[in-house]
Amino acid sequence: MSFADALAALYTPETARAIEAADEAAVLRALERRAPDEADLAALLAPAAAPHLEAMARRAHETTVRHFGRTIQLFTPLYLSNYCTNGCVYCGFNTGNRIPRAQLTPEQALAEGRAIAATGLRQLLLLTGEAPARAGTDYIAACARLLRPLFPSLGVEVHALAEADYRALTRAGVDAMTMFQETYDRELYATLHPRGPKRDFAWRLGAPERACRAGMRVVNVGALLGLAPWRLEVFATALHARHLQRRHPGVDIAISLPRMRPHAGAWQPAHPLTDSELVQAMTALRLFLPQAGITLSTREAPALRDNLVPLGVTRMSAGVSTAVGGHTGGDPGSGQFEISDPRGVDAVCAALRQRGYQPVFKDWEPLEHAHTARRAS
Ligand code: SF4
Repeated sequence: MSFADALAALYTPETARAIEAADEAAVLRALERRAPDEADLAALLAPAAAPHLEAMARRAHETTVRHFGRTIQLFTPLYLSNYCTNGCVYCGFNTGNRIPRAQLTPEQALAEGRAIAATGLRQLLLLTGEAPARAGTDYIAACARLLRPLFPSLGVEVHALAEADYRALTRAGVDAMTMFQETYDRELYATLHPRGPKRDFAWRLGAPERACRAGMRVVNVGALLGLAPWRLEVFATALHARHLQRRHPGVDIAISLPRMRPHAGAWQPAHPLTDSELVQAMTALRLFLPQAGITLSTREAPALRDNLVPLGVTRMSAGVSTAVGGHTGGDPGSGQFEISDPRGVDAVCAALRQRGYQPVFKDWEPLEHAHTARRAS
């Protein structure tokens, strides 16, 4: 069964009601289970689980340490282009927004990469808006080829691509792909994406699976929390990740928890999460998917990020700029959203070490790097 079919059966008012109705006994049962099932996940996401957050946090911590140790991988995004043909109502790059638009040449991207590499980071995430005529697969691949010698792990967070395009990116050295579905609510999705190619819900939903088939090493999924009621969104995200894990056991399937925050401007998230709801979402995901990486971005403030580290996080961004060319003097007005944690790499590393965690800059070596290193030694 495709995940689109599974989603149609699971993203329903009945599921939402079942999550709301799960009682304390179901929560306690879920906390005892070594391998929580879907019903347990629903209980862990239920309002009835809120008084048991401490127990959930304890289990989530133990589970994370068992599978990942006390390590946090660090990466940073590199915004290649903010041209976009879509009208996502919640995004600063929305085609209707009058902001400075810019696109780096591959050489400028390399200069940006050198500035980032000087901080010690070795994992990079390349981002673009959706403007394939300007920033299509060939352009992204050209940037990747130049950046790859500096970054053993190179991810992309770009528009939904065909399998052949993902395959072309892997040949250019890209090994990781991130695709947020934004919301798993098909009807809401249509209202939030009123124009542009991103309107195609099904094409986006199938992108992570196409990336898996194309040979990506890491595939990262998630929903933009705050667009829709969070419990059902997190439930759908978890089942999406599990679907991919089962179908593609050789791919490292990970989850992100990007949270929309109230901000200046006309559009505001309709379903904002509190901090404790974010903790509940993260710990429930950790218990349901013990081996999935969990990424926490700089949308969250430093103190909260530091406090969430022991509860399931495995990957964090640091030294972030969301502006095109932001590491080499680009216009800060071209940024996608305001970050809440402006700390540089050294400050994030120091905060992690203070909590007994080891910041990890590099956790894998592409074969061509290993051969080069051997020849050089
Ligand atoms: S979320 Fe992505 S596709 Fe939508 S407007 Fe922003 S950059 Fe464009």
